[in-house]
Amino acid sequence: MPASKPVRLPKHPDPAQTLKFNFLPSFPSSPSLRAASPMALIVQKYGGTSVGSLDRIRNVAARVKRTRDQGNQVVAVVSAMSGMTDNLIKMAKELAENPSERELDVLLATGEQQSIALLTIALNELGVPATSITGSQAGIHTTGSHTRGRIMHMDPSLMQGFLDEGKSLVVAGFQGVTPGGMIHTLGRGGSDLTAIAVAAALKADVCQILTDVDGVYTCDPRVVKNARKLPEISYDEMLEMASSGSKVMQSRSVEFAKKFGVVFEVCSSLNDNPGTLVLEEHPNMENVVIRGVSIERSQARITLTGIPDQPGMSGLILGALGDAEINLDMIVANIAHDGLARHSFTMHSSDLGKAQAALKPVLAALAPNSKIETEAGIAKLSAVGIGMRSHSGVAATMFKALGAAGINIGMISTSEIKIAVTVDEQRIEDAARAVHDAFDLDKAPA
Ligand code: ADP
Ligand code: ASP
Ligand code: MG
Repeated sequence: MPASKPVRLPKHPDPAQTLKFNFLPSFPSSPSLRAASPMALIVQKYGGTSVGSLDRIRNVAARVKRTRDQGNQVVAVVSAMSGMTDNLIKMAKELAENPSERELDVLLATGEQQSIALLTIALNELGVPATSITGSQAGIHTTGSHTRGRIMHMDPSLMQGFLDEGKSLVVAGFQGVTPGGMIHTLGRGGSDLTAIAVAAALKADVCQILTDVDGVYTCDPRVVKNARKLPEISYDEMLEMASSGSKVMQSRSVEFAKKFGVVFEVCSSLNDNPGTLVLEEHPNMENVVIRGVSIERSQARITLTGIPDQPGMSGLILGALGDAEINLDMIVANIAHDGLARHSFTMHSSDLGKAQAALKPVLAALAPNSKIETEAGIAKLSAVGIGMRSHSGVAATMFKALGAAGINIGMISTSEIKIAVTVDEQRIEDAARAVHDAFDLDKAPA
């Protein structure tokens, strides 16, 4: 493998500004020391596939060593071995239909703890002085309910101490600690968030998300074979793509990176090809109308008909779904006819039963003549691009492409930089390819 040096990423235009959030009250790192030295502090996040076997862990150790031998300080953030988190959840669900979320956190955090110990052992074997660090030792302080932790505060002092001793660090992704000292996980895919937060807290020079693809593509390359790797993408576009199904980045990690000005690169853990830079938008980015296309499977729709057209009704209905902790995605209300309105929403299909149960008592009390209609087996296709703000006719191009491919559109929703539609789940891959072709996303913009 060529020993190319990791490129220092451009800093956010005004990092000092972004760190004013009272987020890092004490900042024990030593920027003056780093400024005087050519050494870079590099955060590298390795996902589940990249540490999925002992051989792969050895490869990761070799890559960390190589980066270190080039004169850099390295902090590796790692996920559980691929399939491990799913397996742990499966075991818990075999024992109980609704396992305690506190215990799920304790269980799931063990996946990452295996990885940090194994990678540290492999590094030590290569002669690299390295230390494993759990989420709590990394000073990742969280809030929120179990299994859905949000980072409130970072205290990187322990990590900084080890770095100052010349150690490389191996940090457990996906975990933090509650104010009461309980183990807390950060939501699926949460190791991305750990990496970005650690990079922000340590003021790293470089933050790389190393994964099993060599960058962010115009669509999932497993679905659209001629998808093209993007050299760069804005935070807002990455966020829209991530939250509409492109799991290459966890959406909350992108939000966090934008808030704290962490420029990062998504690249391969297996080669040194340049990846995709994720950063604040710049004027040239608007030349591209659609940056990428995302798909999200396993969606379901509920449509309520016969809802009295009265103030407060939507709030009461959505309130019942919110109280049942159901995350709604698209929400569409039609203009009322004869005093009766129609509301539709989509959600993950696993929430459909819970949503119906939550709606029944509210509708019985407020709208006795209403009906609940459900549809599972649908998927969502989203086209994302900041250029949409300044170009017209984008929706028409997308809808015509779907029409020409014989794909029926269910619901439609839009934001300033996204157009999303639901289609039959069986046709979602055809739909992605049709829209990808319609916008010539396989070709680099002139
Ligand atoms: P990791 O285990 O490294 O966190 P993930 O499985 O979470 O990796 O994310 C990488 C996967 O994301 C890829 O294998 C790819 O199939 C998928 N993916 C979805 N959309 C995209 C996209 N637009 N560009 C690149 N990869 C994508
Ligand atoms: N292991 C966790 C998951 O599978 C976190 C991660 O991989 O980022 O969701
Ligand atoms: Mg991931």
